[in-house]
Amino acid sequence: MDCSDLKSYTVLYAEDEETVREIIGRSLRRACKEVHLAANGQEGLDLFKAHHCDLVITDIEMPVMNGIEMIRQIKALDENKPCVVVTAYKDESHQSDLAEVTIFKPVDLQELKEAMMRACKKHYT
Ligand SMILES: [Mg+2]
Repeated sequence: MDCSDLKSYTVLYAEDEETVREIIGRSLRRACKEVHLAANGQEGLDLFKAHHCDLVITDIEMPVMNGIEMIRQIKALDENKPCVVVTAYKDESHQSDLAEVTIFKPVDLQELKEAMMRACKKHYT
Protein backbone atom coordinates (compact mmCIF):
# COMPACT_ATOMS: atom_id res chain seq x y z
CA MET A 1 0.00 0.00 0.00
CA ASP A 2 1.00 3.62 -0.51
CA CYS A 3 1.88 4.86 2.98
CA SER A 4 1.95 8.50 1.95
CA ASP A 5 -1.67 8.35 0.73
CA LEU A 6 -4.12 8.02 3.63
CA LYS A 7 -6.87 7.20 1.11
CA SER A 8 -5.40 3.71 0.87
CA TYR A 9 -5.78 3.08 4.63
CA THR A 10 -8.45 1.04 6.37
CA VAL A 11 -8.13 2.16 9.98
CA LEU A 12 -9.22 0.93 13.39
CA TYR A 13 -9.55 3.77 15.89
CA ALA A 14 -10.19 2.93 19.56
CA GLU A 15 -11.00 5.77 21.96
CA ASP A 16 -13.35 5.68 24.94
CA GLU A 17 -14.06 9.44 25.07
CA GLU A 18 -17.07 9.77 22.78
CA THR A 19 -16.47 13.40 21.78
CA VAL A 20 -12.85 12.75 20.83
CA ARG A 21 -13.79 9.52 19.04
CA GLU A 22 -16.49 11.24 16.99
CA ILE A 23 -14.47 14.35 16.07
CA ILE A 24 -11.26 12.54 15.18
CA GLY A 25 -13.23 9.70 13.63
CA ARG A 26 -15.02 12.13 11.31
CA SER A 27 -11.72 13.66 10.18
CA LEU A 28 -10.20 10.23 9.65
CA ARG A 29 -13.21 9.19 7.57
CA ARG A 30 -12.62 12.14 5.27
CA ALA A 31 -8.94 11.28 4.90
CA CYS A 32 -8.93 7.46 4.82
CA LYS A 33 -10.51 4.67 2.80
CA GLU A 34 -12.41 3.17 5.72
CA VAL A 35 -12.53 3.82 9.50
CA HIS A 36 -13.84 1.49 12.21
CA LEU A 37 -14.55 3.15 15.56
CA ALA A 38 -14.32 1.32 18.88
CA ALA A 39 -15.17 2.57 22.39
CA ASN A 40 -12.79 0.16 24.14
CA GLY A 41 -10.08 -2.38 23.45
CA GLN A 42 -12.42 -5.37 23.29
CA GLU A 43 -14.61 -3.66 20.68
CA GLY A 44 -11.43 -2.72 18.85
CA LEU A 45 -10.14 -6.27 18.85
CA ASP A 46 -13.50 -7.57 17.59
CA LEU A 47 -13.57 -4.97 14.78
CA PHE A 48 -9.96 -5.75 13.93
CA LYS A 49 -10.84 -9.42 13.50
CA ALA A 50 -13.97 -8.64 11.47
CA HIS A 51 -12.38 -6.20 9.00
CA HIS A 52 -9.14 -5.94 7.18
CA CYS A 53 -7.46 -3.02 8.96
CA ASP A 54 -4.12 -1.75 7.67
CA LEU A 55 -3.43 0.43 10.67
CA VAL A 56 -4.48 0.71 14.31
CA ILE A 57 -4.85 3.94 16.28
CA THR A 58 -5.63 3.60 19.97
CA ASP A 59 -6.01 5.38 23.26
CA ILE A 60 -4.49 3.60 26.28
CA GLU A 61 -6.91 4.29 29.15
CA MET A 62 -10.18 2.60 28.21
CA PRO A 63 -12.72 0.43 30.06
CA VAL A 64 -13.13 -3.33 29.48
CA MET A 65 -9.76 -3.68 27.74
CA ASN A 66 -7.08 -1.01 27.61
CA GLY A 67 -5.00 -0.07 24.60
CA ILE A 68 -1.88 -1.89 25.79
CA GLU A 69 -3.74 -5.21 25.95
CA MET A 70 -5.53 -4.56 22.65
CA ILE A 71 -2.20 -3.90 20.89
CA ARG A 72 -0.70 -7.00 22.51
CA GLN A 73 -3.51 -9.16 21.14
CA ILE A 74 -3.45 -7.54 17.69
CA LYS A 75 0.31 -8.01 17.44
CA ALA A 76 -0.14 -11.66 18.46
CA LEU A 77 -2.40 -12.01 15.40
CA ASP A 78 -0.16 -9.94 13.11
CA GLU A 79 3.14 -8.69 14.46
CA ASN A 80 3.58 -6.39 11.46
CA LYS A 81 0.36 -4.45 11.96
CA PRO A 82 1.34 -0.79 12.49
CA CYS A 83 -0.06 0.70 15.71
CA VAL A 84 -0.22 4.36 16.76
CA VAL A 85 -0.86 5.18 20.43
CA VAL A 86 -2.66 8.42 21.26
CA THR A 87 -2.55 9.02 25.00
CA ALA A 88 -2.93 11.89 27.43
CA TYR A 89 -0.26 10.51 29.78
CA LYS A 90 3.49 10.65 29.33
CA ASP A 91 4.43 8.03 31.94
CA GLU A 92 5.59 4.55 30.97
CA SER A 93 2.44 2.81 32.16
CA HIS A 94 0.55 4.58 29.36
CA GLN A 95 2.82 3.44 26.56
CA SER A 96 3.13 0.22 24.63
CA ASP A 97 6.54 -1.13 23.66
CA LEU A 98 4.82 -2.82 20.74
CA ALA A 99 3.45 0.40 19.21
CA GLU A 100 5.39 1.90 16.30
CA VAL A 101 4.56 5.52 17.17
CA THR A 102 3.19 7.30 20.25
CA ILE A 103 1.70 10.80 20.23
CA PHE A 104 0.00 12.81 22.95
CA LYS A 105 -3.37 14.46 23.47
CA PRO A 106 -4.82 16.86 22.67
CA VAL A 107 -4.83 15.27 19.24
CA ASP A 108 -3.46 17.44 16.46
CA LEU A 109 -4.87 16.05 13.24
CA GLN A 110 -1.82 16.83 11.15
CA GLU A 111 0.44 15.24 13.77
CA LEU A 112 -1.81 12.18 13.81
CA LYS A 113 -1.68 11.85 10.02
CA GLU A 114 2.10 12.08 10.06
CA ALA A 115 2.25 9.49 12.86
CA MET A 116 0.06 7.15 10.79
CA MET A 117 2.38 7.46 7.79
CA ARG A 118 5.48 6.95 9.94
CA ALA A 119 4.01 3.81 11.55
CA CYS A 120 2.93 2.50 8.15
CA LYS A 121 6.33 3.01 6.57
CA LYS A 122 7.94 0.77 9.19
CA HIS A 123 6.09 -2.25 7.78
CA TYR A 124 4.76 -1.59 4.32
CA THR A 125 7.72 -0.12 2.47
MG1 LIG B 1 -9.31 7.03 27.45
